[in-house]
Amino acid sequence: QTNTDLAAIADALRASDDIVICGHVSPDGDCLGSQLALAAALKGLGKRVACLLAKDEPADARLSFLPGFADLVPAARYDGPARTFVAVDVPTRARIGDAVSLLDASETSVVVDHHAAETTMADLTYVDPDAASTTMLVWELAGLLGADRIGDVALCCYAGLVTDTGRFQYQNTDAAALRAASEMAAAGADAAFVSRAVFQSRSEASVRLEGVAIGRMRLEAGGAIAQSWLSREDFEALGATKADAEPVIDALRSIAGVRVACVLREQDGAVRGSLRAKDGTDVAAIARRFGGGGHVAAAGFTLELPLSEAVTTVGRALEEAVAVASQAPLSSDAPAAPSAPD
Ligand code: 5GP
Ligand code: MN
Ligand code: MN
Repeated sequence: QTNTDLAAIADALRASDDIVICGHVSPDGDCLGSQLALAAALKGLGKRVACLLAKDEPADARLSFLPGFADLVPAARYDGPARTFVAVDVPTRARIGDAVSLLDASETSVVVDHHAAETTMADLTYVDPDAASTTMLVWELAGLLGADRIGDVALCCYAGLVTDTGRFQYQNTDAAALRAASEMAAAGADAAFVSRAVFQSRSEASVRLEGVAIGRMRLEAGGAIAQSWLSREDFEALGATKADAEPVIDALRSIAGVRVACVLREQDGAVRGSLRAKDGTDVAAIARRFGGGGHVAAAGFTLELPLSEAVTTVGRALEEAVAVASQAPLSSDAPAAPSAPD
C-alpha cells in the first residue's frame, strides 16, 4: 500500500459522477458519520451518491438522527451505478461484507481510514492512524473538495468524532481532535443534541443487558482484567439487538484498576469479542490472534467457538497480555507528556 494524500482523493472524487460509499459491518457512529458526511459534501457538489450498508441488517437506531440515515441501502440490494467505490473507516475486504462485489466491479476505488492496518483493497488509499476518527479525515477531505461543510457535514463529522473518542475521553483525544470538534461546532454541529441522541437514548433492553453483563462479570489478574459475556438467550429474553450490547463494555472499563475490558457475545451463530485497554496493552494484537483487529486501545474479533470455550480461551490470552503490560502505568495515573504544539 502506498499512502496517497487527501488532495489526490479529492481530485478523483471531483472527476467522478456516481459514487457509492461503504463502511464496515455493524457500523458505528464514526462509520456512518463518515459515510453520510462525505455523501452530504458530494451531493452538495452535484454528485450522484449512495451510502451502503455492508450487511442487510438494521443500523443502530441511536444513529438515526444522522441526516441521510433513512437512505442507507444494503449493498446486496443496491442496483444503481457504482463506478467509484469509497470505503471509509474499514481496513479490510472482510469488513465490507456484501459490498465486496461492488468494490471489485468499480472503476476507481478509494479508502479513507484511521485503522493502523495494511490495506491493499483500493486504488487510492489514505490512512492516518493518528486521526482520532475517520470523520476527522472526511472533514478535511470535504474542505479540500470545496464542499459546504455547514450543517449536515459538520453534524455527521462531529457524531463520528464524539463516538470514536468515547465522548473525548479515550487516549485518542488529542489537540487535533478537540480543534476539529471546535470547527465542527462552529459549523453548526450541536454537541448537546448529538449527546442526547447517542448517549441518552439507550433502549431499556440495552441497560438491562448491561445489568446482566455486570452481574456475571469476572475480575482477574488482581482486578486488571474485567471480562463478561452475553448469550443468545440473554438477547432473546430482553428483546435486545446487537447494537444494544455496544455500550456494555464501557461499564466494565470504567472500574478503577481495570486495564483491559472484554465482552463476548453470541451473535449470528458465532462469538463476537470487544476489547478495550486503559493502559499500554495492545488489544489490537490480541484481537489479531483471534482473526480480528482494530486499534491499540479498542479492537474486536469473531470466534467460531462455543461461548463457554471462547470465554476460557480469550480469558487466558488476556491474562498473558496484561502480565506483559503490567509494568506500564495506567494512562490515567500518569498523563502523557504534552507534545510540542504544531
Ligand atoms: P467494537 O468492539 O466496537 O466492535 O470494535 C472496536 C474496534 O475494533 C473498531 O475500531 C472496529 O473497527 C475494530 N474491529 C472490531 N471487530 C473487528 C474485526 O473483526 N476485524 C477488524 N479488523 N477490526 C475489528
Ligand atoms: Mn468504526
Ligand atoms: Mn473509526
